[in-house]
Amino acid sequence: MQTKPKNKKPAGEASTTFQSVKGMHDVLPAESCVQEKIYRLAREILEFYNFNSIATPLVEYLGLYNRTTGEATDIVEKQMFTLKTKGGETLALRPEFTPGIGRAYIQHGMSHYPHPVKLFTIGPLFRYEQPQAGRFRQFNQIDAEIFSTENDAIYDAQGILACYRILDELKIKNLIININTIGCITCRPNYRKALVSYYKNKEKQLCTDCKRRLPVNPLRLLDCKEPICQPLKEQAPNTLDYVCATCKKHFKEVLEYLDNLALPYALNPYLVRGLDYYSKTVFEINTQPAEGEEKIDFALGGGGRYDYLIEELGGRPTSAFGWALGVERIIDVLHTRNILPSSRPKEKVFLIHIGDLAKRKSLCLIETLRHAHINVIESLGKESLAAQLRAADKADAPLALIFGQKEAYEESIIIRDMKTGAQEMVPLTKLPEMIKRKLN
Ligand SMILES: [Zn+2]
Ligand SMILES: [Zn+2]
Repeated sequence: MQTKPKNKKPAGEASTTFQSVKGMHDVLPAESCVQEKIYRLAREILEFYNFNSIATPLVEYLGLYNRTTGEATDIVEKQMFTLKTKGGETLALRPEFTPGIGRAYIQHGMSHYPHPVKLFTIGPLFRYEQPQAGRFRQFNQIDAEIFSTENDAIYDAQGILACYRILDELKIKNLIININTIGCITCRPNYRKALVSYYKNKEKQLCTDCKRRLPVNPLRLLDCKEPICQPLKEQAPNTLDYVCATCKKHFKEVLEYLDNLALPYALNPYLVRGLDYYSKTVFEINTQPAEGEEKIDFALGGGGRYDYLIEELGGRPTSAFGWALGVERIIDVLHTRNILPSSRPKEKVFLIHIGDLAKRKSLCLIETLRHAHINVIESLGKESLAAQLRAADKADAPLALIFGQKEAYEESIIIRDMKTGAQEMVPLTKLPEMIKRKLN
């Protein structure tokens, strides 16, 4: 979090009306409703694959991310929102979920749980980066992690499957799983060496970031999106030529599972993912443009295996596989392709009340309908019959319930068919039953 300059008001605070903080956006009802549908679907799918939900705090100690995400990554180098507490501790708003969940796994002794331990969470993350299309400083992700005793390829496959299935069920077409292996502790140094020697003497053809990254984290050069770095990248050594037999066998097994599941994948030898903790399998899911459609040049989600992270954090050696899906990115694609999940509008009846007694009895009447699982729309503040009838019309309610002074007194109510205008008076005790009959 930025510290406030003493004399100058920061931008956004200068005017008399406030704006949301740069790169952070309000989710208004129309988008929120789409977001909720995505969450509901994701939960349903993840629960089917036996993931249990977990929620970790929005803030963690900064050191957690330095240790796991990696000091030479963009996230830790430039994108952290950090804050100092009055007690002098340095905290960070979480930029990703995995380190916090890994920390919780150790802290709560989950290594003693029956394995695999499958966890998922949904919520906001924070990265201080230049806001642009599909990129925010506060954004949401759906995240899933599998902790297991063995690094069995079946977990990689099931993890990828669950991630793919969410996008597939959202009717996003032309999905493609980009997949690679980046090796293990034994074989990755060889690959690093090969990369460093390949890029040696070619530094001049690299962007400033890559020049700096080369000695610290050469794998990250393959992540670079700068045009100047692309030609060299295309000729760079291929991970598959350097990984050990164990890693190769593991990767082959993952691909066999994907073949069995008939999931569409493409080998991408330059996919490394930007984080330090990955080992063996890494993947991203993209959607290829349909004919005449602009290229969508971001991944909807991705992840991989991270067999060393738990040990790095002080836990016992634990195999792990995880991924995250970008919620705003998914919504962006749903919008672009005009495939927002449609909801069958729930049939609702519209309650119209006239006069004091009816108004006083309205809330109880709504409770009766709630017990009977009948959805009601009301406009409790409005007084005139005409205004309420107009509202009922606008709401497209098939039935209106007219609760007048006389009816309220006699414990009855009028049911009006909004299409035909036909009206019928019924006793309140029979109301739920009559509504159900008319709606069917
Ligand atoms: Zn290996
Ligand atoms: Zn570069």
